[in-house]
Amino acid sequence: MKRSQPKWVPPSNEDSPRLRLYNSLTRQKEEFVPQKGNTVTWYNCGPTVYDASHMGHARSYISFDILRRVLSDYFNYDIFYCMNITDIDDKIIMRARQNFLMSQYIESKPDAEKLKLDVEKAFMLLDEKIAAAEGDEAKLKMLNKSKANLQTLMDCGDTERIISSPEAKDVLAPWIDKQKGSEVTDNSIFSDLPKYWEEEFHKDMEALNVLPADVLTRVSEYVPEIVTYVQKIIDNGYAYESNSSVYFDTKAFDASPDHFYAKMVPEAFGDNKALAEGEGELSAAAEKQEKRNVTDFAVWKASKPGEPSWDSTWGKGRPGWHIECSVMASEILGKSMDIHSGGFDLKFPHHDNELAQAEAYFGNGNWVRYFVHSGHLTIDGCKMSKSLKNFVSIKEVLTQYTARQVRLLYLLHAWKDTLDYSRKTMDVALEFEKTLNEFFLTVKDSVRSIPASGCAAWSKWTTSEVQLNEKFIQTKEGVHQALCDNVDTRSAMDHIRELVSAGNTYISAARKSQRVVNRALLLNSATYITDLLKIFGAIPKNQAIGFPQEGAQNENLEEAVMPHLSAFATFRDSVRTMARAQKAFDILSLCDEVRDVILPELGVRLEDHEGAPPVIKMVSREVLLKEREEKMKLEQEKKAEKERLKKKKEAEQAAKNAQDRIPPSDLFKSEADKYSAFDDRGIPTHDASGQELTKSALKKLVKQYEAQEKKYSKYLKSVAATNGSSTVEGASAQANGDS
Ligand SMILES: [Zn+2]
Repeated sequence: MKRSQPKWVPPSNEDSPRLRLYNSLTRQKEEFVPQKGNTVTWYNCGPTVYDASHMGHARSYISFDILRRVLSDYFNYDIFYCMNITDIDDKIIMRARQNFLMSQYIESKPDAEKLKLDVEKAFMLLDEKIAAAEGDEAKLKMLNKSKANLQTLMDCGDTERIISSPEAKDVLAPWIDKQKGSEVTDNSIFSDLPKYWEEEFHKDMEALNVLPADVLTRVSEYVPEIVTYVQKIIDNGYAYESNSSVYFDTKAFDASPDHFYAKMVPEAFGDNKALAEGEGELSAAAEKQEKRNVTDFAVWKASKPGEPSWDSTWGKGRPGWHIECSVMASEILGKSMDIHSGGFDLKFPHHDNELAQAEAYFGNGNWVRYFVHSGHLTIDGCKMSKSLKNFVSIKEVLTQYTARQVRLLYLLHAWKDTLDYSRKTMDVALEFEKTLNEFFLTVKDSVRSIPASGCAAWSKWTTSEVQLNEKFIQTKEGVHQALCDNVDTRSAMDHIRELVSAGNTYISAARKSQRVVNRALLLNSATYITDLLKIFGAIPKNQAIGFPQEGAQNENLEEAVMPHLSAFATFRDSVRTMARAQKAFDILSLCDEVRDVILPELGVRLEDHEGAPPVIKMVSREVLLKEREEKMKLEQEKKAEKERLKKKKEAEQAAKNAQDRIPPSDLFKSEADKYSAFDDRGIPTHDASGQELTKSALKKLVKQYEAQEKKYSKYLKSVAATNGSSTVEGASAQANGDS
């Protein structure tokens, strides 16, 4: 007899998928392991705020919002998300100064002659830039376009219109800035512009349902920390002061056995064009002389007149671009973070330089564990560029599509690949949204009459339920696998699509065989899809704090009105059946009107199904009215097509009638090119070349003649019957006249 419990062995779960992320530091998918418990620290490179956010920006913000939500709400990590706002930058300085100087110029009200002279001088500066841009096709195209645009506009002769135009600003502002830029001393100019655009950025993100960061850092608020940080890098031997600026010593850093410069994109080490772009527009050629190595980059820039400045050990200046992220991320997240994200184009030099600075500061080699980069965005298959002027702002996009539709577009594509924004790709997203919406509505309708609890809520499963449930389980497994595989939402959506299709098939089969559907199974499937879309940010989550309000009004309109709607729909269905039996067409048309006109106005779609109860769906009024419009358009098209066919038939009949009106003696006369001689009845005897016709040919012609004789006499009779005898005589006289 066994007196103790047997040994227990846990099940093996080795094959189950684990979350893996594509890490730019290794260029492959790596298993995701947070450094400490369940906490994930995350830094995302935020916007440089000097203009409106466009779809290119949305590419990374929406992608990382989805990634963040999946890691937090699907994989249940505790995420601490930090993002920066770049509010000190060469682009901001240039834009702010030029805006300011241009408005001063407009206020000075130059006359036509002065404007003409100034534009000529500005063109000279532009020509210098064109000459310098040789080889850079895109830049050349843009500069030449600016010139041509203003030249065309100058012809209009309206001085006021010209100076307030963007075309004039494009050319004049850089020219005025070159002369007077250094005189701009009011620092508020350099903070008002980024403040304005930061506000707009937050509005755009909210409209796109992008979650706010847990902590937001602005460069302008971290200048003292940056100065201290830079000093430590100098002390560690990886940066040096030169003419009041500080540069990062890439050679010294790379030579250290503990470090590796440009470890994310080693092949870009020495890519001076990319590096120069990273250094900013205001870095003059002279600054290059200050560097020990061409690959070095500025961490602190001495400010020239006309540039905002902060105090430092090295004199008045401002932070270089890359240092801000190293400092702010270190301040908030410490010496090593789990995830750093940003757009694909930030890899080099920005992110490699961030890594170098922070690792020079901390003396470690793992400041970032997983570096993730979102793919590019193209517009109608083209790269976005200033020369193509194909930037689409987020605000513009949201006038055409909803934030949900835009998000579905992202969900249907891989976050790290190129995403094309076009009518075609948006149509796919819209179609998918419609498929999901119809499924939710159909499920809600089909379970409405089934009790939610008690014995009646439970019915025995048939093979249909077993099959649908198998599909449901497969879907959940498939989605889990897809999300583990570098958060592959595209494949997850494919699995959802299959489940929806299986659910629809199940419901329509039940409807056809008048079988009751399984409430729990359908609701579980629809809830699962809804929850997943909530995780993805495509359906809003209830973010309220605390317990829900009891008896809140309008909390669930659908729940409140559905019993009334159901009673009405059942009543109407009975009326309709009776009206049909009694051929009471006026009542039937009233039944149609309530379905097609009155209920859509109230946001209710009622569908009649032959031999089954009516289906009720609560849909937005706008959608229903649009549907009605489309239906009417389709009916009109059908009507037009019918009309066209009718006209065609009439034309054919008329042609036939015309043929019938030809007297048999005239039948072959028109074919003079085929025949040269005819007998007394008008039947050809010889062909065009004078040859006598063969017997068989003659026989054929006689047959045709006799057929026409019949048609013609029929025609004469019909004319006589309608018009009286005189016309007939006339007609027969005419018939005989020619022969
Ligand atoms: Zn950054």
